[in-house]
Amino acid sequence: MKMLGARIHGHGGNEVLRLDDLPIPDRRPGELLIRMVAGGLNRVDLYMRNSGAGMTHRLPITLGLDGAGVIEEADDDSPFRSGDPVVIYPGQPCGACEFCRKGEEVLCTRGRIFGEQVDGTFSEFVAAPAGSVMRKPRSLDFVEAASLSVAWLTAWRMIATKARLQAAETVLIFGIGGSVSLAAAQIARALGARTIVTSRDPKKLERARAFGADETVQDRGGASIVDRVMELTNKRGVDVVIENVGEAVWPSAMRSLVRGGRLVTCGATTGDDPSADLRRLFIRQITVFGSTLGNRAEFAEMTDFIEGKGLKPHIDEVFPLRDIAAGLERLESGRQFGKIGLAIGKA
Ligand SMILES: [Zn+2]
Repeated sequence: MKMLGARIHGHGGNEVLRLDDLPIPDRRPGELLIRMVAGGLNRVDLYMRNSGAGMTHRLPITLGLDGAGVIEEADDDSPFRSGDPVVIYPGQPCGACEFCRKGEEVLCTRGRIFGEQVDGTFSEFVAAPAGSVMRKPRSLDFVEAASLSVAWLTAWRMIATKARLQAAETVLIFGIGGSVSLAAAQIARALGARTIVTSRDPKKLERARAFGADETVQDRGGASIVDRVMELTNKRGVDVVIENVGEAVWPSAMRSLVRGGRLVTCGATTGDDPSADLRRLFIRQITVFGSTLGNRAEFAEMTDFIEGKGLKPHIDEVFPLRDIAAGLERLESGRQFGKIGLAIGKA
């Protein structure tokens, strides 16, 4: 039995990407065999294709961290049965290190991640450790559910666990076209916070209003964002900043915060070495959090929240697995608004 998988055979542009006929993986005890229905693209997929620097991996490797599908085979004592709809938790934590023991498996020192160190989710079947499989929320279709794996989990940890955003607070979210930023705006709004979002693209700002943005600020470079944020907050500043753009917006992010404000960052697309602005940091007593992905307990909390609030991840466009190269091109172009999905198989 063969299956299709999207693998990179080197590093570079889409020329290193191939759709290969692969054997269906053998399920070992403790694993679940999943027939994949949907996936979703993340910037890390582009990073793996482009260089994969710093990620211990062998080539070829199947790309993909996002995924949702249906259980094909499970151990007899597994809580899952054949036919159950599931979502991939992209981490494969060791379960034994000090971080795993305290429920912070996202910090696992020996953990691996689908599509980074081991074969990912962009194939018709995946054999996943039981600990990397979560129930799919009934309220979401498979493409929507696949976007929980990375973007929504990342946004949830940033807002709920790190910033602990409160209903009466104001949050500034940079780069609203990206799927983490859009998820963050939807979560923040559902929590009752006032949301201010930025983008360089006025069309994205217009669309963001439909997804919970109370105020929109066009990023025209320089101090344009800070000036507008101060106007919108009566010169006070925001309680929380959520950002994944990095160097290009860091000075604006720091200067948009109220005294005692919290900044959470999960990315550095435009560079990772901005001025630390230490004087502002300590005088104004700002807290900076780094964050990436999240824990399984957070995944479960997030799922309950999404179902309770009736939230739906926004899908920009869905590409069939065979057209993954076109999907990656769209992601690279930055034209997308929300998650770029992959259709892998029938539901
Ligand atoms: Zn561990």
